Amino acid sequence: MRRLLALFFLAWRAVVLHPLRNALAGSRGKERFLENYAPEALVPYSAAERRVLPRFSGCIQCGLCDAICPLVPRLPRRQWRGPSLFAVAYSRSTPELSHLRTPIGLLDNCGTCSACQTVCPRAVPLLEIFAFTRRKLADVEKAA
Ligand code: SF4
Ligand code: SF4
Repeated sequence: MRRLLALFFLAWRAVVLHPLRNALAGSRGKERFLENYAPEALVPYSAAERRVLPRFSGCIQCGLCDAICPLVPRLPRRQWRGPSLFAVAYSRSTPELSHLRTPIGLLDNCGTCSACQTVCPRAVPLLEIFAFTRRKLADVEKAA
């Protein structure tokens, strides 16, 4: 009888309890991810966002965009060294959004200029990268 009860208990765990626990944990997966990683500005990327990332990663660090950017001579270098900062960040596996938080605020001064993107020999879509970064940093704020 005890053996039968033990087998019944094992079956209950395998068939009901364990799958139920997994299902509940799965539904909280995103929430738990954000609890752990949002403070480090790590937020999930949608499938569509992951598809555009390779287009952002072509920078060869030639520096031409920094040389042409009109904000470079107007701002202290410790605040703004140029738009390549963004292109270089996206040329790595995962951009470190926390490092881009301060420079993104300075881009309010760009106006209608798009010189950095026009001069880029690798056609890195810098303006798209700026917009993408703004959206992801807004996601970080929401998750914090
Ligand atoms: S768009 Fe902004 S970052 Fe690019 S060159 Fe113009 S001022 Fe500089
Ligand atoms: S011009 Fe293009 S390739 Fe050169 S540093 Fe800027 S983003 Fe990178």
